[in-house]
Amino acid sequence: MNDNIILPKSVVLELTYKCNHKCLFCSCPWEAKEEGFYHYEKGRELSFAQWKKVLDKLNLMGVENISISGGECLMKDCLIPLLAYVREKNVFNIDSDIVLISNGLLMNEDYLKAFKKYNVHLSMSLPGLTTFKQHTGKDNAQGVLYWFKRAKEMGLSTTANITVTKINYDELYETIANALIAGADTLLLNRFLIGGRGITYRKELSLNKKQLTSLLDIAEEVLEKANRIGSVGTEYPLCLIDKKKKYKKLHIGSICSAAKDFFVVDPSGIIRTCNHSPKKIGHIFNEDIITDKDYWNRFAKRDYIPNTCVMCNEVNKCDCGCRETANIVYKDFYALDACLNERVI
Ligand code: SF4
Ligand code: SF4
Ligand code: SF4
Repeated sequence: MNDNIILPKSVVLELTYKCNHKCLFCSCPWEAKEEGFYHYEKGRELSFAQWKKVLDKLNLMGVENISISGGECLMKDCLIPLLAYVREKNVFNIDSDIVLISNGLLMNEDYLKAFKKYNVHLSMSLPGLTTFKQHTGKDNAQGVLYWFKRAKEMGLSTTANITVTKINYDELYETIANALIAGADTLLLNRFLIGGRGITYRKELSLNKKQLTSLLDIAEEVLEKANRIGSVGTEYPLCLIDKKKKYKKLHIGSICSAAKDFFVVDPSGIIRTCNHSPKKIGHIFNEDIITDKDYWNRFAKRDYIPNTCVMCNEVNKCDCGCRETANIVYKDFYALDACLNERVI
């Protein structure tokens, strides 16, 4: 049993290390290759039989909501049988969609039919239009837009998942607009965070403070025109948000949800607090699945507030951005978010 550990109700299952994109911003920790940062050793990927055991265990531990990612989860051969297993067991929250995060390159009609059958909410990444290939290595922006359109026609709910970087910032308005016009129901914006392969490209991709503020205005404007809603998934320091402005369509997260609202099982069963985190803190098949409780509790109990923020009036609703990134960049959980420092090393 996990003494003192309360597991969140939601989990992200990283089904595979494999991916057919090579995104410059990819934060998967096993893609980190830069000297002087961290190295994340890949393990042996779990089989279908083992993933079924993972689901059984998560169910027993009270987890209700499942998201599936990778790598690229369409490259995992047991993806559809696993979706069927989740639904056949009928134990996870049946009112909750399974959120599936894909880059869309292998998408086809059969996948969409299966996603409809198993109540999957499809989140597809669209990191730019003209800059899509520059980010991912594959020229498939039109393919992603096509699958948003087909998903809409088939009655699936979808999210356009856009990582905003210095490279695609200038076409953010058009990227969001095209995704919504194609049929995406909602928008998930992620500001580029340094981690994984993105460590190597941190100077090319990191947004400055002005861009970080303006991108919120751009997103709000498109969402307002389209009468849709969206959210910013990568937490913002509230300092960056003009208090006088009201964002009615865009929800902006400012508290880290790692170990509070969700946690991650990697392709080999390793537990992490968040998909961005490179820290292995346990294994799903251990009796005590979280072995590094100090690391877990740092996030679960918000024991990571920078000294400069402790006296701030907003500290109960602001984590000063991403604490994991502060630790990756400055080797200090208590450092300011790199976007406030503008000291990208
Ligand atoms: S960000 Fe996603 S699609 Fe891009 S390389 Fe990483 S896992 Fe693949
Ligand atoms: S807690 Fe820190 S980052 Fe957040 S608003 Fe206050 S000073 Fe800014
Ligand atoms: S550590 Fe927290 S703030 Fe950073 S990416 Fe993960 S959930 Fe978001």
